[in-house]
Amino acid sequence: MVDLQTQYQRIKAEVDQGIGDVLNSCQFINGTAVKEFTKNLKTYLGAKHVIPCGNGTDALQIALMALDLQPGDEVITTPFTFVATAEVIALLKLKPVFVDVHADTFNMDETKLEAVITARTKCIIPVHLFGQCCNMEKIMQIAAAHQLYVVEDNAQAIGADYHYSDGRVCKSGTMGHIGTTSFFPSKNLGCYGDGGAIFTQDDVLGKKIQVIANHGSSVRYYHDEIGVNSRLDSVQAAVLDVKLKHLDDYGRARKKGADFYNTHLDLPGIQTPVIAPFSTHVFHQYTLIIENDRDQVKDHLTEKGIPTGVYYPVPLHLQKAYRGDGYKMGDFPVSEDLARKVLSLPMHTELNEEIQHYIIDEIKNAILASVKS
Ligand SMILES: *Cc1c(COP(=O)(O)O)cnc(C)c1O
Repeated sequence: MVDLQTQYQRIKAEVDQGIGDVLNSCQFINGTAVKEFTKNLKTYLGAKHVIPCGNGTDALQIALMALDLQPGDEVITTPFTFVATAEVIALLKLKPVFVDVHADTFNMDETKLEAVITARTKCIIPVHLFGQCCNMEKIMQIAAAHQLYVVEDNAQAIGADYHYSDGRVCKSGTMGHIGTTSFFPSKNLGCYGDGGAIFTQDDVLGKKIQVIANHGSSVRYYHDEIGVNSRLDSVQAAVLDVKLKHLDDYGRARKKGADFYNTHLDLPGIQTPVIAPFSTHVFHQYTLIIENDRDQVKDHLTEKGIPTGVYYPVPLHLQKAYRGDGYKMGDFPVSEDLARKVLSLPMHTELNEEIQHYIIDEIKNAILASVKS
């Protein structure tokens, strides 16, 4: 699905130098590399505060902890996302409330938001799924009208641009009260281990997040609140600092691959990715909707040595761990339908036309075979 080997070979000299510098400094935690990367990411995003942390799940958890929510408060997200988004809500004894997604972009359907807001709703977590932004302008308007916080789960869309109707352009993850991301190796900005970060434009939240991520402490051995231990280590920061310089080029390479797939996969029964007018798409995933026999197409590709992914096969409201909240089959028909039809193709920075032709030809063969059977 990704080719991190070839990508590493291309930046090996820079990365090895960066890691070597960390080893020589022996500042493995909170070293210069962490400070340097944090500063550069702040500039790249146009974010006032960037707080690095251990991974993308921690980032979401710390973001919610900073909002002083009470047990039983409701947090709205979609059932068509990676489990981490709902997991942190439940872990903090808050109540995950789901809202369905748009059938074309897979992102939160903001037109269904107001129907699920109650007196206990405190926060909305839009997930910028597969690499493009949710309708943030609308979501922020609804949040303001109901005095709700918005935490953007930006684990899959770092680098995407959001275009407001007045012409302003913002980086994904910087529009809500807080944004979070993951540096898991296969993410668009991935390190060589675990990592994550939290962004905010708000000084009070920025300070609070910093304190929570560091054992609730701003002065060593004095703890003003209950926090966690979540850190980005210096080796990972050194890798990320190199890859951040290439992030926009990586985005262009992914976009080129996506355009190539689009031109050749304009076939009956297949829907290629739809991009909303207000966002660019950084193609964390290139995801098709296969109307009939998705699993047969997947099996055919597996047989031909082509990896594919189904993100996500079971919507969260139907997962054993989350069914207790009274949800049942039929509650989120769009997510349920997508779970049966989505198929993600290999998408990374090292695609070329030869690889893509092979994949495209085999998809055509699979569709022909499924029509025949
Ligand atoms: C990857 C991911 C996370 C979690 O990130 P980790 O670094 O693996 O903890 C959270 N939300 C979404 C949408 C993700 O894709």
